[in-house]
Amino acid sequence: MSTVGTEVRNILVVGSGAMGRQIGMAAAVAGFAVAVYDINAGAVQDAEHDMRTWLDGRLAKGKMDAAAAAEAWKRIGFTSELAPAAATADLVIEAATEKLEVKKAIFRQLDELAPKHAILATNSSTLGSSAVAGSTGRPAQVCNMHFFNPALVMKAVEIVRHEQTSDQTVDTASSVVRAMGKSPILLNREIPGFIANRLMAAVRNEALSLLQAEVASVADIDAAAKDALGYPMGPFELMDLVGLDVSYLIRQAAYEQTGDAADLPHPLLQEKYEAGEFGRKTGKGWYDYA
Ligand code: NAD
Repeated sequence: MSTVGTEVRNILVVGSGAMGRQIGMAAAVAGFAVAVYDINAGAVQDAEHDMRTWLDGRLAKGKMDAAAAAEAWKRIGFTSELAPAAATADLVIEAATEKLEVKKAIFRQLDELAPKHAILATNSSTLGSSAVAGSTGRPAQVCNMHFFNPALVMKAVEIVRHEQTSDQTVDTASSVVRAMGKSPILLNREIPGFIANRLMAAVRNEALSLLQAEVASVADIDAAAKDALGYPMGPFELMDLVGLDVSYLIRQAAYEQTGDAADLPHPLLQEKYEAGEFGRKTGKGWYDYA
């Protein structure tokens, strides 16, 4: 079983949605003992079923041997009871619904239920951990651990410290990330969008400006990103995959945080959003999927 830094053995993941289940599974495969908790019993069942299917797929493809898969499965549990899972956690990674009030309430509960030494991290993409640290009596042990989707595949984890986060917390979080076979990316301070999403936003905005100026078509701008820059997907393809509604709302949230007009959703993105053309999920976005 993995132990790193300040002896992290047990990890609790709060929220078993798209991110939480995969973060938990990745940690279990890496050797940590993991509990994945959700307030919604249906989401717990769904996550367990989904992760079992993922593990069976790894076995079937010969990417994992039977003994390793059985060990990983033994190390992970799915639950809708918070208190017992929190009581033994050395590290909690919160990946619950992106609402500040929900997260504040979770951090208040975790502060009561988790051992004093436990680190409380949030996977939030848009909320810096300073927004929840004040709901705990241990702000030095609070940070962001921002995984990327799909968390079982993506290597990067942005570790974002707020003003009171201790070096020890950053070191331990980084060690856990490395033990998961992933790369920690350290941010010395909070900034909306962190690093990777800011880089992505800059590329996306430039792509939208080029389209608006009628310099090239959607497909040709995507081809430049893929065939000249080596991106796995063009910015328009990626927006269609993520959902234009999600892309729009993220920009809107960034603008609300910064008040900087440069963060507003691009007018072309706004048009798509208002037309309800959200990409693959609606059958039409920048491309037609009908
Ligand atoms: P999701 O909607 O798929 O899952 C959220 C889960 O949280 C749901 O199952 C819900 O039942 C649960 N939940 C709500 N309130 C709870 C509570 N009080 N206690 C426990 N569980 C609760 O969301 P997601 O896409 O997995 O995102 C979760 C977090 O991860 C968000 O903070 C988001 O910003 C961040 N994130 C998402 C992505 C992404 O691409 N989806 C990428 C990086 C980070």
